[in-house]
Amino acid sequence: MIMYKCPHCGNESISLYKKANLDMRYNSKCKKCGEKYGLHSYSYLLDLMFLLGYFLILRTNFTEPIKIVLGILLFLVDTLFNILFVPIVKK
Ligand SMILES: [Zn+2]
Repeated sequence: MIMYKCPHCGNESISLYKKANLDMRYNSKCKKCGEKYGLHSYSYLLDLMFLLGYFLILRTNFTEPIKIVLGILLFLVDTLFNILFVPIVKK
């Protein structure tokens, strides 16, 4: 299983699932050292970009099932971006 390093103690204590679900609004605590970590602040910009994407999907003339599929695809891309490009930082 893929694990990510805590920015404080360097232990691989953050699971892939945990990283994919990190939210800018909340900080998480490391299981090993108890210090807080979270996503880098530029994830706000990514969130705004994806929000705009969802809005654009809703505004298209596609049928509802196609909008739902596009929405799910965008959600998966959003999650993938969080995993691959947004670093975990100290809080
Ligand atoms: Zn730690």
